[in-house]
Amino acid sequence: MSITADFSLALRSLASYAGGLVNPTLRLGVTGLSRSGKTVFITALVHALMEGGRLPMFEALAEGRIRKVSLAAQPDDVVPRFPYEDHLAALTGQGSAGKERHWPQSTRRISELRLVIEYESKAGWLAGISTLAVDIVDYPGEWLLDLPLLDKSYAQWSRETLTLARVVPRAPLAKDYLALVNAVDPAQLAEETTARQLSESFTAFLRSCRDEHVSLSSLPPGRFLMPGDLEGSPALTFAPLATLADAPAAASLQAMMERRYEAYKTHIVRPFFRDHFARLDRQIVLIDALTALNAGPSAVADLEAALGDVLKAFRTGRNSLLAQLFAPRIDRVLFAATKADHLHHTNHDRLEAIVRALAERAASRAEGAGASVDVAALAAVRATREVSAKQGRVMVPCIAGVPLKGETLGTDIFDGIAEAALFPGDLPDDAAMVLDGEKPLALRFLRFRPPVAERHADGRLKPLPHIRLDRTLEFLLGDRLR
Ligand code: GDP
Repeated sequence: MSITADFSLALRSLASYAGGLVNPTLRLGVTGLSRSGKTVFITALVHALMEGGRLPMFEALAEGRIRKVSLAAQPDDVVPRFPYEDHLAALTGQGSAGKERHWPQSTRRISELRLVIEYESKAGWLAGISTLAVDIVDYPGEWLLDLPLLDKSYAQWSRETLTLARVVPRAPLAKDYLALVNAVDPAQLAEETTARQLSESFTAFLRSCRDEHVSLSSLPPGRFLMPGDLEGSPALTFAPLATLADAPAAASLQAMMERRYEAYKTHIVRPFFRDHFARLDRQIVLIDALTALNAGPSAVADLEAALGDVLKAFRTGRNSLLAQLFAPRIDRVLFAATKADHLHHTNHDRLEAIVRALAERAASRAEGAGASVDVAALAAVRATREVSAKQGRVMVPCIAGVPLKGETLGTDIFDGIAEAALFPGDLPDDAAMVLDGEKPLALRFLRFRPPVAERHADGRLKPLPHIRLDRTLEFLLGDRLR
């Protein structure tokens, strides 16, 4: 990092520190890979806080100490605002989003929202009304996987990526890309069409790794899968090449790729870590663990590796890359398995135990200490209710909800209106069995519509149903509201 960048960061930290004295703030990062539930989580969390939802385990609210929660102007003018109102309207079927309730548009880029919580502190000489500003920062988890790139040259990254691409399980998916790499000579004249062809084919390979649950982790660049506003820009139009020269000619394809790789690091990766990540105080990492469990052992192993990669970004051992660049100040990380409403409540603790085992293994691989880590199984919005249904002679614990139009179960095709009940299956008691198992779990899932929004007599929306959102809030915010 340049000295000027260092200096301006120091100034900014000083400014935010001084600002924090006047008005304490907590920057809460919400991340997770695409479709893990970030958008739904933030929308539900803000709504629950603003409407005083049923949150018995969230102490400040349960003790009646929260006076008011409101939205306020965010501190960063150049970061898009998280469109809370639009997402709530979509979830509840209101306003311009149309009358049909539906899941909101997922996270595609970074966004931010400021909540101001007025609360009565528990005791002490400061007793009275205090204020905490919570800046929620939503960003794609894919971006965290770019951290190791800061330490690597183009040649190193190319070599490592191609080595991984040539072996199982990625090899079959990398076939087209590897053929293309073999057909180009890094010394040939740089041409935009070739660069684009290579980067498109490489991106398709990365995407298929994710779609096939082969590898969510360890294959950056993260922006290739989640480009934010940078889609199509030259800094994203590069790819790894084979047999590289030590000193390529300036006009060669290799030199062009190298320049773009360096530009990606300088103009995209580094600013994200410096301007956003390094300023977070708390972090929740959302995980769609059920989908991985259902997809089988390689997806679970991959999830574990992805968590390890993510944890490396939070653990700032003295030798860690981040610590050399800037000191992240995150002191708490919560790994949360989302969409727990797809399981009967008798399985929620088991899901939590599985995530705990995953996080423990991931933590043992991520060097260094730092942030304290906890886990949770939650549903930010509960789309199902619990019922018992007769199967043969026994009653089994089922979940019921309205499946999305077009969902199927056996020979049934759902119309998006009728309710259906299903027995989703049970998670094993022993978390280790899941992590070391050789077969996918036989779980049954349907994608359900969001629940029908209920209203008070005066027309105001009632808080949305959830599972364990209160415990999540207590871990993330509780100590700052005492
Ligand atoms: P993002 O990409 O991380 O922002 O993911 P979203 O928040 O958009 O969630 C992706 C999808 O997961 C949604 O469209 C829903 O179908 C589903 N989903 C997310 N959260 C929940 C939840 O709490 N319960 C249920 N049943 N489904 C959820």
